[in-house]
Amino acid sequence: MEREPFAFFQNKFVPISQAKVSIMTHAFNYGTGCFEGIRGNWNPEAEQLYVFRLREHYERLLRSCRMLRISLPYNVQQLCEITRELIERNGYREDMYIRPIAYKGSLDLGPRLHDLEDHFAIFTVPLGLYLGDQGVRVGVSSWRRVDENAIPARGKVTGIYINNALARTEANDAGFDEAIMLTTQGTVCEGSGENLFLVQGGRLVTPAESETILVGITRNTIIQLARDELGIETVERQVARNELYTADELFMVGTAAHVTPIIEVDHRAIGDGTVGPVTRQMMASYFDVIRGRNPKYMDWLTPVYPARVPAR
Ligand code: PMP
Repeated sequence: MEREPFAFFQNKFVPISQAKVSIMTHAFNYGTGCFEGIRGNWNPEAEQLYVFRLREHYERLLRSCRMLRISLPYNVQQLCEITRELIERNGYREDMYIRPIAYKGSLDLGPRLHDLEDHFAIFTVPLGLYLGDQGVRVGVSSWRRVDENAIPARGKVTGIYINNALARTEANDAGFDEAIMLTTQGTVCEGSGENLFLVQGGRLVTPAESETILVGITRNTIIQLARDELGIETVERQVARNELYTADELFMVGTAAHVTPIIEVDHRAIGDGTVGPVTRQMMASYFDVIRGRNPKYMDWLTPVYPARVPAR
């Protein structure tokens, strides 16, 4: 039988079956937590697992914590080291996903953020492709993305995700692979777990940060790689729904989804309905970087295992 994986829970590494919370936990009742989704990507030639932009994920987690008035006893450096050690203990030799979560752990009633204990945990799971790589069909959701003044949308807050879950299930029930949510204003926002890019006349266009998106780390990566590797500029602006239908190409990006081509929106083919050339180049460039095959971007990667001793 496979060894049970470890989790990080209550300040120590424990077998995951021991990492349990009470049904009275505040975060379970009110969604008062925030989390991250991080990937480790396996490179078989180097026999190394590279965690992608670990620091940036923990910087975002600590920003989410500020929105929820959660204080953790760890800084970014410590969080990175705990995470690396957890993955090493679990011994993955495949693509995997890391889920840190900071939450109100008190067993106490009443929705609020103050006078509650802050807890922190991390678990890990193996994770291959999330939406496939052949191109997905998406539908614009009737559920609007939460407004910034309803819940701070830039925070990766657990309670927000009922919004995303409603959209994703509606889309799947209607036969689509994924949803695209609009802002409360009716402009294009993002997918249920991905940011969006349009290819328009040789440029990339993506909804601006002010469009209540979750400001994605993959989104930032794609903007940089497009500029520095492909020589393509990105315009960050408001995007109208009907621009989706007439884009030359469309793709979604996110930690879980990587770069996923979109071939159809609301039953309208994008371009000729196949994966376009810019999307293909973006995918190739991005996958090289996250697997440690482009030496220029090694600063973005945290190797989990000690480097192999080179043969003499
Ligand atoms: N939007 C939402 C709603 C998400 O949940 C995610 C995944 N974290 C993203 C966008 C993409 O963010 P990132 O590239 O940082 O994973």
